[in-house]
Formats: sequence, structure tokens, C-alpha cells
Amino acid sequence: MKALVKDIDGIGLTLREVKKPTIQANEVLIKIKSTAICGTDLHIWNWDAWASSTIKIPMTVGHEFMGEIEEIGENVESLSVGMRVSAEGHIAGSNSRNAKAGKLHLDPDTVNLGVDREGAFAEYLMMPASNVVALPESVSNEVGSILDPFGNAVHATLSFDLVGEDVLITGAGPIGIMSAAIAEHVGARNVLISDINDERLKLAQKVCNAETFNPTKENLKEKMQSMGLKEGFDIGLEMSGSEAALDQMVDAMIMGGKVALLGIPPEKINFDLSKVIFKALTLKAIYGREVFETWYKGLALLDSGLDIKNVITHTFHYTEFEEAFNLLNSGKAGKVVLNWH
Ligand SMILES: [Zn+2]
Repeated sequence: MKALVKDIDGIGLTLREVKKPTIQANEVLIKIKSTAICGTDLHIWNWDAWASSTIKIPMTVGHEFMGEIEEIGENVESLSVGMRVSAEGHIAGSNSRNAKAGKLHLDPDTVNLGVDREGAFAEYLMMPASNVVALPESVSNEVGSILDPFGNAVHATLSFDLVGEDVLITGAGPIGIMSAAIAEHVGARNVLISDINDERLKLAQKVCNAETFNPTKENLKEKMQSMGLKEGFDIGLEMSGSEAALDQMVDAMIMGGKVALLGIPPEKINFDLSKVIFKALTLKAIYGREVFETWYKGLALLDSGLDIKNVITHTFHYTEFEEAFNLLNSGKAGKVVLNWH
């Protein structure tokens, strides 16, 4: 079968023939239909310090996907051939305290699809049946391929009660934008999303009705006044990993506000913790999804009318992968989908 493989110690990926996977009793074989390129895949393409020290080549990459079940192992009962599915790409172990307590997202033995084991940018993918999630007909193939990053947004955004609250989101990448759409959908009062890139803010306006803000051009205090905010934002979602954005967020929060942190700073940052303490803020770090509870909530949000499809700006055939990765590297795209059919 064809797969996109990291097999060189340098920039890029290779489209090449690899062995089609075989399945064991508790696994399923999925025929891939649509995949989406993640920031993680871009790190692997660019072969930065993280990627070159993490990925053992050769490795088929990719973890955001949907497809159709082609074959099921003999012990698999809840799934059947022909089902449209996606899957949780974090494959938890079963021995740690957290895993035994059912907190799969906190299992230290977790193995990541397309990073630690053969990924989804391929014609076929083998997955443990317990990680597979069936998709309703109402979820298109393209949207089905971005449920993993959508899940990050769901996890971060639903961490705190947003009903009637004023929400600041720093970072208008796809996850930040989907978070803004979720916050509006569940009943936040004001949602403001900020980014230093106007293209991203324009994309945000195509996905949701949140107010947008560019901190290099506008003053946040004035923006807050114009929105009728008197004491600050109740909820902050930090999606950029930028030191300046985090500083600005802490300054703009209300006393006792709550902040979810998802953006990963590229290096150690200078952060004024005393401000967090004097404002009595709550900080919560977000990594991945709270696995199947997040998948459930995410699909329920889509079923109740949340529309995220406009965050997908480009669709390519998998053979056009070089164009797709170059476009993403240019910063001029939202989610980019590769179709495999
Ligand atoms: Zn991803």
C-alpha cells in the first residue's frame, strides 16, 4: 500500500510503498478516506529539534483521520465492516494508576499514532478496536478527519462553565478558532479571539461570530471597553504558546478567573506567577483529549448544530502532499485535508 513515510534525516516526507498492516484479535483494519495535517506533522516534515529527537525513522506519519472499517479481529464485537470511523490517536497503556482508574488521558505509557507507531497517512491503518469511534452520517468525511484537533478544542473549552461568561482566546489557529465556535455555541456572552496574523482572524470570522483582535494594531483595554467588559475576562483559553499572549491574558482576566493552557511555548518562558497569585486565577493545562468523554461531547456538539467545516480551507489528493505541506508552512491555511480515495 501507499504511505507518507518519514524515512530521511532531513526535511520532507516520502510517498512510498509499505507493507499493508495485518490485525490481531482485538484490532481493526481501517481503509483511510480523509486525513488532516496537524502542527505535529509539520514539525516532522520540517525535522526540527523535537521531531529529530522523537521520531524513529522510517515511520508512517499522521494521526488525524477518518475511514471505513475493512476488517475486524475475532474478539471485536461493537464494530462492523463498512462502518465509518475515526479513532483516538493516543493509545493508552493499562498498568498505571491513572489507566486503571479510567483516566486514560493521564496514562504515562501512552503511545502516539504517527509519532511512536505507524500512522494514518496511508491507504490502510491498524488500530486497537477500543480506540475506534463510530461516526454518524451527519459528520462528513472532511470534518471526520479533524475530530482529533476538534477534541483538543472541546477539552480546553469545556474545562470551565462558560454560560454567560466573557471569554478571551489567544491564538487563532484551527484549535483556537474551533474553541471560539464552541464557546459561542454553549452560551458564552462575549468571545474575543486574538492573533498577530490578520489572515487567521479573517478565517475565525468565517467559522464563528466572535470578536477579533490583533494586539500589534489595537489596544486590548479599549477593545474590552467597547465590548462592555468592566472587570476583565472570566475565562481565558491560551492557544498560542506565546509569552506575550499569556502576559496579556493574565492582565486581562477578572479576579478569580479561570485559564486553560493548550499552546506550547517553543522554549522556556518568563512568566510573572505573582500576578496569577494576586489575581487568584485558576490555571489548567490541557494535553490531548479526556479521551472518550471528549469524543462524546464533541460529536454531541456537532449533532446539536455546531458547524466547524469552514476551518478546513484546503483539500488535496494525497499525491499532492508536497503542495499541502508547503501551503501549511506558509501560514496561509487553516486545516488542510488530504483525501485518500
Ligand atoms: Zn493533531
